[in-house]
Amino acid sequence: MSSQTSFTEDAAIVVQALNNYIQESADQGAPVIRQARLESLIEQLDLRRHLERGDLTGPALEHFIQDYLAATTRLHHPGFLAHQVAVPHTSGALASLIDGATNNAMAIYEMGPAASSIEYFMVNWMLEKIGWSGVPSDRQSDPQSEHAGGVLTHGGSLANLTALLAARSARVPTFWKSGNPGNLVVLVPEQSHYSMKRAVAILGLGEENCLTLPADADGRVLPGEMQQQIDTLRNRGKQVMAIVANACGTAAGLYDPLPEIAAICREQQIWLHVDAAHGGGALVSDKLRHLLRGIEQADSVVWDAHKMMRTPTVCAAVLVRDHRHLDHAFEQEASYLLHAKDQPGFDFISRTVECTKAALGLRLFMTVAAMGEQGLARHVEGLVERAQEAADLIRQQPGFELAIQPETNILCFRTSDNDQTQLEIRRQLLERGDFYISSTLYRGRRWLRLVFMNPATDLDDIRRLLDQIVTIRSHLEQ
Ligand SMILES: *Cc1c(COP(=O)(O)O)cnc(C)c1O
Repeated sequence: MSSQTSFTEDAAIVVQALNNYIQESADQGAPVIRQARLESLIEQLDLRRHLERGDLTGPALEHFIQDYLAATTRLHHPGFLAHQVAVPHTSGALASLIDGATNNAMAIYEMGPAASSIEYFMVNWMLEKIGWSGVPSDRQSDPQSEHAGGVLTHGGSLANLTALLAARSARVPTFWKSGNPGNLVVLVPEQSHYSMKRAVAILGLGEENCLTLPADADGRVLPGEMQQQIDTLRNRGKQVMAIVANACGTAAGLYDPLPEIAAICREQQIWLHVDAAHGGGALVSDKLRHLLRGIEQADSVVWDAHKMMRTPTVCAAVLVRDHRHLDHAFEQEASYLLHAKDQPGFDFISRTVECTKAALGLRLFMTVAAMGEQGLARHVEGLVERAQEAADLIRQQPGFELAIQPETNILCFRTSDNDQTQLEIRRQLLERGDFYISSTLYRGRRWLRLVFMNPATDLDDIRRLLDQIVTIRSHLEQ
């Protein structure tokens, strides 16, 4: 069989298998999570034999895809409540297929004009959601003009690193040649994602120079106490390179007060980075965008499409109020790629760590274009509503404690007063396989954590989850 005929036939096998899989998962016809041992999976999937024979087509492919799907964690299952990863829209999945088949590594325009144009368009779409004007179409006539800008990266962690690189280029324009001055610090919320501290360490500032901002009892940044911290640091000879705010935090999903934080950053001329990797999704909803009020005052924003926006992993945006800082974040010359060209498009390559890059914008575009902007807004609103209804349910349940009223689709609660019990409950839930939830440390205690990502998860699912927890708890108490 020629590889062309086997493509359409193999694709039909795969699409049929995926379609059944999505349906079966949605119908809860298989466990949401089932973790076989690594060694037995390698054996079961017959990996070595397939490599030797090169036979992965037709019936062998059909066999393989069944075994593969049987060993997945099923995000389409309504019991999937564990992590901030989108239940992908099938149109977004088709974008990944198109990208895989065309392989237009589009960081330079000539390697993928369609993919680059779509990234350019979708970055502008996101900039406008923040309240910034998108990149003017005549931008090439004046590269020094002031406007916003951005780039898509493979994930929010890399995006956070990129945003801090832009912050450093603004604070220390000479860093690329001369390295860091020894006195830079970055101030982050108590509840910041671990990628933030990691980015500070990668930048060579030293983890010790990633300091925690003052916070209230719930972990929200307290703007009223920031000034004193900044003054104290300056008196000790430190330069604050950036201040980070969460929109929202990872553990409990709380939004920091952006307008107040932004006012201090403006006055003190300190770069404000808003980590909206998860909570940026609320920007697409007129009902929810108030949560991010003040975000337009930020200098940089990170926003993941593969979290609340149903886009397949990964697709994250680094967005900056002044594009020049992102352009100066990487000042290295790679002459074969970055030479001056008379070209009809835009090269993203000077804005990212990455060289070869997937058509990330296509995933986001095809997802939003299939749902419509209104459909996407309803989706995000639905997830948040579901979390709030679940919170009401848990509040009424004897023996259960809510960590805090959810602001977004993340909900933390516990039952019994023992940290270890929460972990044991989670372990037993996963073993049963009807629900997949996570746990987190928040305010010094261990909580069970639900992240509502699946539009199919309803309150009956949550009732059954609570029933299972009560059963497990009563066995533990015996
Ligand atoms: C998920 C998340 C990140 C990391 O993003 P990835 O795409 O998983 O790398 C960073 N910050 C916050 C607040 C997040 O929720």
